[in-house]
Amino acid sequence: MSESMSNACAQHIRMCLSECVAVPPAGESWQTSETDLTGADINRLHAKGVIRVVERDGDDRVWKTKQAAWDAIQESRESLGLLACGHRPFSTVDLDSERPYSCLGEDCDARYSKAEIEAVIDGA
Ligand SMILES: [Zn+2]
Repeated sequence: MSESMSNACAQHIRMCLSECVAVPPAGESWQTSETDLTGADINRLHAKGVIRVVERDGDDRVWKTKQAAWDAIQESRESLGLLACGHRPFSTVDLDSERPYSCLGEDCDARYSKAEIEAVIDGA
């Protein structure tokens, strides 16, 4: 399986960064239920080549994020503006909480909702 990134994949990351940043890091195996992605998101990410199936267990599929796609997502993330706390966006800290995202500032306790993160992404 090739790990190179197609144009469709690169374009999807540019156009739909708020969706792509919800994807777990490359190297981890994960299932949809562990993310806040919907089934439709997953199908699109798969079709665009951002993620790939590593295992099938009935209807449950196990996914991996492609390394090249993950690298491109991190690059896009670094080009974003600053969050309200003055630090750079952002990492996922706790998907079960109402404010699942943190900034990348060390020793900063600011937490952000999905909408707040998306506002920064869409303004980039
Ligand atoms: Zn901060």
